[in-house]
Amino acid sequence: MKYLDEIRKNLAERREQGLFRQRSELETLQGAHIRVDGKEYINFSSNDYLGLSSNPELIATARAAAAHWGVGSGASHLVCGHFSAHENFERDFARFVGKPAALSFSTGYMANLGVISALAGRGDAVFADKLNHASLNDACVLSRAEFKRYPHNDMAALERLLSASTASHKLIVSDTIFSMDGDIAPLKELLALAERYDALLYLDDAHGFGVLGNGRGALAEFGLSSPRLIYLATLGKAAGVSGAAVAAELDIIDWLINAARSYIYTTAAPPLLAETLSKSLELIAEENWRREHLQRLVALFREGLSDHAARLMESSTPIQPVLVETNAQALRMSAALKEAGFWIAAIRPPTVPTPRLRVTLTAAHSEDDVKNLAACLRKLLEEAA
Ligand SMILES: *Cc1c(COP(=O)(O)O)cnc(C)c1O
Repeated sequence: MKYLDEIRKNLAERREQGLFRQRSELETLQGAHIRVDGKEYINFSSNDYLGLSSNPELIATARAAAAHWGVGSGASHLVCGHFSAHENFERDFARFVGKPAALSFSTGYMANLGVISALAGRGDAVFADKLNHASLNDACVLSRAEFKRYPHNDMAALERLLSASTASHKLIVSDTIFSMDGDIAPLKELLALAERYDALLYLDDAHGFGVLGNGRGALAEFGLSSPRLIYLATLGKAAGVSGAAVAAELDIIDWLINAARSYIYTTAAPPLLAETLSKSLELIAEENWRREHLQRLVALFREGLSDHAARLMESSTPIQPVLVETNAQALRMSAALKEAGFWIAAIRPPTVPTPRLRVTLTAAHSEDDVKNLAACLRKLLEEAA
């Protein structure tokens, strides 16, 4: 079993390099306070930015929807798995983000695979930020289009690539809020370049939807509107449920229904989730206090670490990474934080270029939670210095 021996060797190397990945079991609901292996933690690792994943109104909606629709969809959307719950959610979502039409997918990963390979193929070119999410990169490779990556947020480099390209169709792809850094792409400039070079622009707003633009996401936040824009929100983060939705011109949505393989060849998500998501849109729209509280927590956290400002990134979003020197330091600090009762993931290469603690704040945290975390981080950083 030579192959199995090699796998064991690769695993051993990962362990030695501090890169071995493993899972922990949550014994409670997702939220600001969790229990893992019998110990309670304040959780600063989830993407549940608005604290909706265990919201009682959403749970009640999901229960009622399960009673009404059952638990499984039973088929793919194009066969007989497309329910009025999906149709209603797509209509609600399109209206909410200000686009003519929308299409829901089972996950953001699948949406990215489906959309990018439906819109770009051999002879075309995709232009992608170097720090885009892994699912976008995988999608670009899968599409078989020419895959051109530009340095993070470098619009001059992107323009050089666009102007040199002779591809039949051009697609620019970017995260809006970058998932491991928390900074925001220059969206107006991206759209201006898409217009100048007759490209489509696909924006992955996994971390902006629900948070930016009064909850309506990055397009609303920056007043962006164009038929060239294709917008993705994932729905397992701020929306608190699961899935993803793409919003665009009606013809683009019709094309995706016909060509996006990860839409066509998979069982539709349970209609109970679509109905729960429509309710989540209502809460996102109505409950501004969640975003206001979250913004206060972001300010508090950054204030609390102002003596270590060089370790913080240019981020005004709920993603507040703390940079450290080495993988080993990331793991050591993550372990010390756990000891102190804070659950924070160490994120290491190859997920990111440099190791860090990825702190995420949510509307479910209290001001004291955040002050206590900042105090603990200060102490650990001072001890390490
Ligand atoms: C989380 C994430 C995805 C994947 O979405 P899932 O619904 O979790 O599959 C895609 N893009 C970005 C930027 C993300 O952060």
